[in-house]
Amino acid sequence: MSNIISGKELSKTIRQTVKEDVAKLLEQTGKVPHLVVILVGEDPASLSYVTAKEKACVKAGMKSTLLRKDETITEDELLTLIRTLNDDPDVHGILVQLPLPRHIDENLVIETIRQAKDVDGFHPLNVAAVHLGLPGILPATPKGIMTMLKSTGMEIKGKNALVIGRSNIVGKPVAMLLLKEHATVTIAHSRTVNLKALALQADILVAAVGRANMVTADMVKEGAIIIDVGVNRVDDKLVGDVDFDAAKEKASFITPVPGGVGPMTIASLLQNTVECFKMIETK
Ligand code: NDP
Repeated sequence: MSNIISGKELSKTIRQTVKEDVAKLLEQTGKVPHLVVILVGEDPASLSYVTAKEKACVKAGMKSTLLRKDETITEDELLTLIRTLNDDPDVHGILVQLPLPRHIDENLVIETIRQAKDVDGFHPLNVAAVHLGLPGILPATPKGIMTMLKSTGMEIKGKNALVIGRSNIVGKPVAMLLLKEHATVTIAHSRTVNLKALALQADILVAAVGRANMVTADMVKEGAIIIDVGVNRVDDKLVGDVDFDAAKEKASFITPVPGGVGPMTIASLLQNTVECFKMIETK
């Protein structure tokens, strides 16, 4: 029977600390961090993510602006908008909600955001910082995952960690951050052979795939820590990549879906916005 790592509870504490930081920064500088979110198109899931991010910003005492653009916006128009925000001294963080329509090159958009305003941590210079172990803005979901792991009080050093999924926004950066903490890291993906055997060796298992309940209890090592990043809609219910009810009987710690990694991603985004503000206003 495992302990539940509640992202909901942990994120409340982080958000309170961010709120206190914002109040102090206002005293020091006369300004509060300002996050600008750009949403292109009408995707309902994207709209609900950006609304949650905006609400969290405002609750933490920050300024938040949502710029909604029609999906017919050209790549040039979007890049021009980003360059204007890069140069705007009143803007400290820029987030372009992904995915973008197919006619827009996401990499080009991400590269155009000024590194110091890249609250998502997706800019190549921030990605390089993660790989080189240098200071930089960490991508929000991996940052939240590491905060959850550390909240267990369990040592990461020397542990076998398996990350299932190798995306640029979750799998790869999580693997690098675990490596930085001296875990022995394996990355699995769709061509991995015998995932179960790898999973059974994992003291830490991070599932970031997007396939409902693909990690079954017979893949879980007794006492493992399980972080479930996946968000899947099944019969109008949100479920993770891990068969939570069965896996929790074997794991020492496990994150729920919903109420796990999701709220931590938002809390980490707030922390990143404060970091960007400090880089711009106080250094
Ligand atoms: P991607 O679709 O970009 O990546 C999925 C990864 O899973 C790929 O590397 C893919 O391998 C791998 N994969 C697919 N099938 C298998 C399989 N059968 N066995 C092993 N690996 C497999 O997804 P993301 O990383 O963007 O997101 C993953 C999940 O996390 C999604 O459910 C997403 O909604 C959720 N998510 C949640 C967030 C939160 O805040 N809670 C934030 C971000 C994501 P290959 O590379 O070979 O194709």
